[in-house]
Amino acid sequence: MGLDVYPWLKAPALMLEKLRQKLPSAVLIYGQRGCGVYELAASFARSILCEHPVQGGACGQCASCKLTEAGTHPDLRLVLSPAEEVAHPQPWAVTKTTSESKKGLSRQIPIEKIRSLGEFLSTTSHRGGNRVVLIYPANMMLADQSSALLKNLEEPPAGTTIVLATDDLDAMLPTIRSRCQLVRVPFPPKAQAQQFLRENGVKDPESTLASFGGMPLLLFEKDVKLRLSEDVEAILLDLLLKGNQLTHFQVFDALNIEIPLPAFIAYIQRFVCDLIYATQGLAVRYNVKKQSEIISLAQNLDVKPLLAYWSEAEKMARMADHPLNAKLTIQTFILKYSASVVKKSA
Ligand SMILES: [Zn+2]
Repeated sequence: MGLDVYPWLKAPALMLEKLRQKLPSAVLIYGQRGCGVYELAASFARSILCEHPVQGGACGQCASCKLTEAGTHPDLRLVLSPAEEVAHPQPWAVTKTTSESKKGLSRQIPIEKIRSLGEFLSTTSHRGGNRVVLIYPANMMLADQSSALLKNLEEPPAGTTIVLATDDLDAMLPTIRSRCQLVRVPFPPKAQAQQFLRENGVKDPESTLASFGGMPLLLFEKDVKLRLSEDVEAILLDLLLKGNQLTHFQVFDALNIEIPLPAFIAYIQRFVCDLIYATQGLAVRYNVKKQSEIISLAQNLDVKPLLAYWSEAEKMARMADHPLNAKLTIQTFILKYSASVVKKSA
């Protein structure tokens, strides 16, 4: 078996391998969504349980590895959100999985799953080896979930490692972070990420990778709440490029459709980030194919209202899973964008 993760994960995988020599009771693996945080955490969890780990990971041959692969290892507890459970029907497969939720499941980690950890952790190891709890996405825990988890982190049972994987380190409670050994998944090098996209049939890997913000695994994003169709992206782009010329009618007419709020906010953030860059005479990061349109929209724009709008979008991103009226929220938020596109006063 050996290293069973994507090539750009080799460096953090080596760090984890060192940690395996003297296992901490809690490890927090963090990086941006789409760089393989979950895949790395799953590989690490597997290697902790393996009876004869080889360089880079689990052996794939021993009895423990077989149980892990079958999903029946008694000393392993997976704590995933319903959305991630569907996205990873075979948690140990590094290759793309096929399942996805059509209607969009909850992205939060259910409180019962955290509460039931107490029972799991109070018993001893079934197979006499290490025990592992894998939690993802650890940033999707509400206050109740976090405090229930904290109890387990405060008094970790011997021989147990809690592996937390998060797409957003800033969203983690400091009290949880401080009890974990932190491992960062760095930005995938461009060449490796583009190569990966090319191998997976992407015709224009440069601009696709840019539109993904450098995160190659967004190609396989399975969470429908985090994904926009090309049609919807085209509609949004068309509206956003109108800047302050956008009318209420255009917004209500074009956006009388269901759009997942988290994906919408992420899209807006990327576009506004590009627009801000362009006002400063910098190259755009995400919408490279639309660079010339964005540059012409950015002419003489006042950057301050855009920066204020961007921070509002960031706040909104943290609340995007709350059951707001998505359609109305989206329409209002686009109109607010339009009002933030303001020429510098002469
Ligand atoms: Zn093994």
